[in-house]
Amino acid sequence: MNLPDLKQAQKRTKDEIKIIYDDYSVPEGMKNIGKDKKYFVKTYGCQMNVHDSENICAILEDLGYSETLTMEDADIIILNTCAIRENAHNKLFGFLGRVKHLKDEKPGIICGICGCMAQEESVVETLKEKYKWVDIVFGTHNIHKLPYILESAIKNDKQEIEVYSIEGNIYESIPVKRDSKYKAWVNIMLGCDKFCTYCIVPYTRGKQRSRLPKDIIREVEKLVSDGYLEVTLLGQNVNAYGKDLDIDYTMSNLLSDVARTGIKRIRFVTSHPWDFNDSMIDVIAKYDNIMPYIHLPLQSGSDRILKLMGRRYTKEEYINLFNKIKERIPNVSITTDIIVAFPGETDEDFQDTLDVVDTCKFDSAFTFIYSPRVGTPAAKMENPLTEEEKNNRLYKLNELVNKYANLKNQEYMDKVVPVLIEGPSEKEGFLMGYTDTMKLVNVECSEKYLGKIVNVKITSVKTWSMDAKIVD
Ligand code: SAM
Ligand code: SF4
Repeated sequence: MNLPDLKQAQKRTKDEIKIIYDDYSVPEGMKNIGKDKKYFVKTYGCQMNVHDSENICAILEDLGYSETLTMEDADIIILNTCAIRENAHNKLFGFLGRVKHLKDEKPGIICGICGCMAQEESVVETLKEKYKWVDIVFGTHNIHKLPYILESAIKNDKQEIEVYSIEGNIYESIPVKRDSKYKAWVNIMLGCDKFCTYCIVPYTRGKQRSRLPKDIIREVEKLVSDGYLEVTLLGQNVNAYGKDLDIDYTMSNLLSDVARTGIKRIRFVTSHPWDFNDSMIDVIAKYDNIMPYIHLPLQSGSDRILKLMGRRYTKEEYINLFNKIKERIPNVSITTDIIVAFPGETDEDFQDTLDVVDTCKFDSAFTFIYSPRVGTPAAKMENPLTEEEKNNRLYKLNELVNKYANLKNQEYMDKVVPVLIEGPSEKEGFLMGYTDTMKLVNVECSEKYLGKIVNVKITSVKTWSMDAKIVD
């Protein structure tokens, strides 16, 4: 048993990161354990979690299980959790209530909890003390060991907890079962060393570690030869890619090399304004297959709050970068993340945030009420705001964000834009996809267009989506 330790998770050393090419295997006795059985994986949180679940699904298929999208039909149920906000806890324990009910009816069901909440001491303590029937708990650093963790739980018929609180290594041989045949997630770096004062990620995902360029390029080349059209390069701070490598190679170099693989569409998330340099902007502007879409989290428009958050840029620096990107990348769309009601945020600070939204007119934004995360510096700061005040701020911000999202979308009316048609739409007779600028479009077309990038004409526009028909 290995339990999480937040203090340990916070440590950063100069120890070398190991890149491990051969640390994934399935023990002999586990090879057919899932034959004629089904797995169900539920994922909360960011794209990294979604991609981790693609690894988990592939591992379960290596063990012989097949996928079901109905939890009630499953023999093994895994919940991949997110720890960013408090409501994640409610979701986890609500979900466990449903699983317990199923387990009472069918005691052989295996239940597993993984992801960022599995890295939290208090959560694992609760699972250990009060939810002994949860069979396995494994952390973000332990995914490649899932077959062995499961083997121990089954053999010993008791709860198995395997959570390392380490800086982390890079495992190159974990299998992946991709959700889409057209779009793929590609991790380019893991972990984060920014330690924004509100954020739990540096504790749950270890230190910043970049994959080697050759391993990333090899993965993208394989995706191209398998017919994939789009890759999204993933990392908590993709702009800092390469800074931890001992070669002179940056995110701009990586973007150029990925562009040269010929993949039709390249996206990347998330960009931290601090590391976004001119050469990156030039590279994005230069290659047609790097999409004109940037997610650039603002978090707050108040210099005082940005400082308390440890974001290391000012409102003015953010706006200057924003304007530079807009000037140099034609047709670019920019989205953001904003937190309201950070400890100590005054009416004036909040007004500063609204002012930046008015200045930048973002294409869209993810907005959050600040949620204290145990172990982070901000959790110790006083926050006198009432729930009502916090909700009012979020409401006000959302109204402004929605206004600009709608206005931005209106600019698309009657325009012809390229869309990668990727799947069913909620509207009958339509399929859905995204423009190069990451606008959700429902396209009136037949299934023969699936997996194709087509030019469509926008016929109607709403705040969060548009309708279109095929041109030509
Ligand atoms: N690495 C990205 C960056 O620096 O912008 C963000 C990653 S985080 C998974 C996604 C978003 O969650 C953040 O941009 C922030 O707005 C929000 N977030 C993180 N911690 C939060 C907290 N404690 N309370 C509320 N929102 C939070
Ligand atoms: Fe969290 Fe800040 Fe790292 Fe983003 S950069 S993951 S917000 S600590």
